[in-house]
Amino acid sequence: MKMKFLFGGQKKAAKDNQEEAKATPEIPAPAGKTDTIKGVSLQNRPKTIGELKASGYSPLPIREEMRRNLIALIKAKKPIFKGIIGYDNTVIPQVENAVLSGQNIIFLGERGQAKSRVMRLLVGLLDEAIPVIRGCEINDNPFTPICKACREKVAREGDGTEIAWLLRNDRYGEKLATPDTTIADLIGDVDPIKVAEGRYLSDELTMHYGIIPRTNRGIFCINELPDLAERLQVGLFNLLEEADIQIKGYRVRLPLDILLVASANPEDYTSRGRIITPLKDRFGSQIRTHYPVTIKDEITIVEQEWQQFKDGDVNFYVPDYIKEVIAEITNLARKNPDVSQRSGVSVRVSIANMETVVANAIRRAIMLGEKLAVPRISDLPYIIASTTGKLEVEGFEDKNEQKIIDDLTKRAVLIVFNRYFQFGELDPIVKHFNGAFNAETSDNMSAKLYTRYIKEIPGMAKAVKKMTDAETPETIASVVEFILEGAHLNKRLNKTKVEGRTIYKH
Ligand SMILES: [Zn+2]
Repeated sequence: MKMKFLFGGQKKAAKDNQEEAKATPEIPAPAGKTDTIKGVSLQNRPKTIGELKASGYSPLPIREEMRRNLIALIKAKKPIFKGIIGYDNTVIPQVENAVLSGQNIIFLGERGQAKSRVMRLLVGLLDEAIPVIRGCEINDNPFTPICKACREKVAREGDGTEIAWLLRNDRYGEKLATPDTTIADLIGDVDPIKVAEGRYLSDELTMHYGIIPRTNRGIFCINELPDLAERLQVGLFNLLEEADIQIKGYRVRLPLDILLVASANPEDYTSRGRIITPLKDRFGSQIRTHYPVTIKDEITIVEQEWQQFKDGDVNFYVPDYIKEVIAEITNLARKNPDVSQRSGVSVRVSIANMETVVANAIRRAIMLGEKLAVPRISDLPYIIASTTGKLEVEGFEDKNEQKIIDDLTKRAVLIVFNRYFQFGELDPIVKHFNGAFNAETSDNMSAKLYTRYIKEIPGMAKAVKKMTDAETPETIASVVEFILEGAHLNKRLNKTKVEGRTIYKH
């Protein structure tokens, strides 16, 4: 029998369940009603152990349940992790393999790689609802209760024992490991009041359960696993391996049915002494997450995630080159030796920067009474507020964060500009600056003031047309700035800054 993936203590319970489990019938949900345990009752679903038996329902261990549901989704060609971009050929197949093989998973990755989201989406592989003994703190299976209270209740009430239906979203527990996380937080504590009543200390009735037992028959995720103290790692290992645990010197037996998922920074995880080896061995799958491989993926994530307010006061439009510049800044930061690559540069940098440049464009539109907010190159310096704090500067020297971000921005604009324009295309525009001609730009300058450059600078109209068909002054102003800055970064125009204004000149 293929049982090697089960936690030691669950083997007996799982075996029992497996023998009972033939085919799991669909449990009919009441028509037109949303399933909920609290509030509206699940009218057509069994309410007692006797009714549950009569329905032919057989609970499955969590690994078998997830595996069965995953197989059904794959067969139906349905997406398993909705909204996860860029992991189709890397992370997702590995997660599927882990679920198919019933393995605990550890995700290794730098910050902002959607680890938490992937972990939470695993809930989608659980049944819509499962039966539990009503009132049980650890979601006992009605047919094989493990807590003493339930065992006594079932012995007393038999088939009349009440059951409840636990929804999939309530079968997920998550904890951020910190050095001061305790056994009581994770596993439980002995209750001194119950002890005082004269119960045996090793009797689980004296237990106050922690988050892991409360997630029994569900998915438990522990974030930043290497921050967990070693004795807790030992406790966690014992719980998984032996289904028993020492609390304040007393042995408590807890044969839980849990899928364990964890996350960690790769360097922390592999650092010697941060994780005890036996616990490492309990993770059948170690899956490396990553940042978006392409600028296109980064932009897709930004467009999906950034906070947009559609209050109708000011409409906005974000040109593609602005999105590309924002994604490119993050991409360059991920290769920059002055930026700590150990902690990484989250996609959240791109998301927050997008929000910032759009906010600055909206602020300008409101101040100037313009109808459309279109971000410009001159809005980019404001990303300092949304970038600092999200990347760590490498080394101990007093490196100027502002200068690093400034350099990244310039390089990003240059890269994106050169994707759209050939060097020679700028000739007529640059030539016009050979005389005394200057062009002024500013993040608080009215869009209408830019439109004259189209008439005044030969070649500008053609260059703008290449980027946009729009005739709105706000969009044209943004494109004009992009072209002037591109010419400057290609060392074809000089630039000076005076009191918040930028002057492009020969
Ligand atoms: Zn119970």
